[in-house]
Amino acid sequence: MSGAQVAILTVILLLETATAGVPLQRYEALLKQQSAPTDEQLGLYDENDKVVQLSVGNFNETVLEQNHGSLVEFYNTYCGHCRRFAPIYKQVAEQLHSWQDVVIVGAIDCAAEENNGICRTYEVMGYPTLRYMGPGFQPSAKNYGQDLKSQDPAEIRGLLASILVADNLTSSNNNTYWPNFHYVTENDSTSTIFEGLSSQREFVALVYEPENSTVGIETALFLLQWPSLQVRRVSDLAAASKFKIDPTSHQLSIVDRKGEITPYTPAEQTGPAYSETLQTALRKKNITPRPEKAEIQHAPVAAIGEKAEHNEILEEVHRHKHLVYQADLEQAIRTVLHNEVPKVNEIGGERLLALQRFLGVLQRYNPLGFNGHQLLSKLKDYVVQFNQELTGKQFEQELQRLEGQLGPIYSSTHFVGCTGSSPHLRGFSCSLWTLFHFMTVQAAENEDSQDPLEVLQAMHGYIKNFFGCSECADHFQAMASRRKIWSVPNKEEAVLWLWAAHNEVNQRLAGDDTEDPQFPKIQFPSEKSCSQCYRTPGSTSDNIEINWNKDAVLSFLKNINNPQFVSRYGVQQEDLLHATAEKMRQKRQISNVFSDIDMRMGMLLYAFCIVMMVVAFKLFAFKGYRKKPYGHDLLGKV
Ligand SMILES: Cc1cc2nc3c(=O)[nH]c(=O)nc-3n(C[C@H](O)[C@H](O)[C@H](O)COP(=O)(O)OP(=O)(O)OC[C@H]3O[C@@H](n4cnc5c(N)ncnc54)[C@H](O)[C@@H]3O)c2cc1C
Repeated sequence: MSGAQVAILTVILLLETATAGVPLQRYEALLKQQSAPTDEQLGLYDENDKVVQLSVGNFNETVLEQNHGSLVEFYNTYCGHCRRFAPIYKQVAEQLHSWQDVVIVGAIDCAAEENNGICRTYEVMGYPTLRYMGPGFQPSAKNYGQDLKSQDPAEIRGLLASILVADNLTSSNNNTYWPNFHYVTENDSTSTIFEGLSSQREFVALVYEPENSTVGIETALFLLQWPSLQVRRVSDLAAASKFKIDPTSHQLSIVDRKGEITPYTPAEQTGPAYSETLQTALRKKNITPRPEKAEIQHAPVAAIGEKAEHNEILEEVHRHKHLVYQADLEQAIRTVLHNEVPKVNEIGGERLLALQRFLGVLQRYNPLGFNGHQLLSKLKDYVVQFNQELTGKQFEQELQRLEGQLGPIYSSTHFVGCTGSSPHLRGFSCSLWTLFHFMTVQAAENEDSQDPLEVLQAMHGYIKNFFGCSECADHFQAMASRRKIWSVPNKEEAVLWLWAAHNEVNQRLAGDDTEDPQFPKIQFPSEKSCSQCYRTPGSTSDNIEINWNKDAVLSFLKNINNPQFVSRYGVQQEDLLHATAEKMRQKRQISNVFSDIDMRMGMLLYAFCIVMMVVAFKLFAFKGYRKKPYGHDLLGKV
């Protein structure tokens, strides 16, 4: 890229940065009307789902010491894997809704700062994590619930059914809805199976459950809403035949109080199919289920800013596609400090070293103003004191203390460039990439440090030990060793390493469910943003491998990450930041006023001079003309 091209790009960026500030006042007004900073980003579930939305406000009263069990998903809104899993979990909740007297299906968003304490207490190390907490549950050092390691609805249902039975057979609880999970034996008869049942129970259904199956348990749970029916399991063949059950043809039967037995054949060997068969049979007998219980109270859902306002931000970002926004850089730092680090219960060993390294780099290359620099410097000094272990809670407390002492740190409260077209798209992971790109460029422009790996190593440690998207962390580590991160030779190559690695992730995720349709994953920068970056024009549209001009890419990345060009659209407290392009632009505007006057004065002077010169010339020429008739030369000769 020639000096001239860089100069042109610089002018373009200056102009873009300048125009990006135009709707600023309007945006500030919008932000004032909006709710708490990150609320609109949160929550993969809403009141239309059967998932109970848990939060610090209702977690304990919903999950602890209850007479029902709870299946809880700990998730992070910004983790792609959690987003992909959300529709599956909704399905699970929908299907298991009829089990709610015995087990509720809930979820808590660990990306919400308010929930830090809960996610830390439960030592959640990967997202999504599914845990079962039984009736009467209280967390303790050895018990944070039972992990369910599956993301398949049928498997989750089966695992949950087994846990519920094991829980019930080993402990007692006072939940009258809890089914009788004991097997019917050969000694039982059509009368003994009604013993102890209220008169409301007009029927008992017998379900054949072979070994290693949970079909009987599931059927009992699916039929909790049918008070006229009691479901019992049978696995012993002799007992089964006593109740007209044949494992190969009639796996179900219904017994009435008169001792009459009717066998049934379900469509398939699954809990839902068995329960469907029994429900149809009951309906034919004019038996109906209990009316639906009032819904369990959901945690309040944060208000979402007006669509028009949201669209205004999106329009701004679409207008200035490749700008880096101050607001996003700040949101990344805020989420890291307020959510990701404090959520970890114990920070020791490799994790502590990773945090110390990360804070060191952040302190050197952050985009914050004076207060922010002070905060990061003191926070780093605090963390560096520890050589064994620090807890997430200690970190959180120190952060709060320092923020209280140093005053406001962040000039903005919302994402701008990382705003998604719908609430749970983009956000934090987008801003984290942005922050790391910004820091690699600042390091490359910094003369003091010669360590090419400074930022990349800090990033690697951070992603591995703190990033709340476990799947992303695994992919990133694999990619880092494949792309030989530890052999990056200099700081400029570090900028390019991260750029290329990010493009690899973009390529893998293009068209993925987590992609924001308004911001498709492209090979960055687009040809429109940086035509010089492409050695072969049109390669993106022709779908051929891009022949990058890496020098141009480097210049481009350095330019967009130049603090002078970082857009301040969405910044509410400009005074917290160092004077930059926006201020300079205002100064330039003022100086432009003067230069206009100067220009006019100059022109006037110029015109005056010309007139004077013409007059002088005329006078001179006239004199010369008058002299000529005398015919003298310089020596006085004619
Ligand atoms: C380290 C890391 C690993 C991840 N791994 C996964 C994963 O394995 N699976 C998964 O589902 N999600 C993963 N994610 C999340 C995913 O990459 C995106 O962040 C998320 O899908 C949001 O995408 P986005 O459209 O906002 O743009 P992002 O990809 O987040 O990009 C943010 C901004 O950076 C700029 N940009 C884009 N590409 C480049 C580039 N090459 N160089 C410089 N700037 C660029 C653009 O302006 C873009 O808007 C990961 C995130 C991180 C931080």
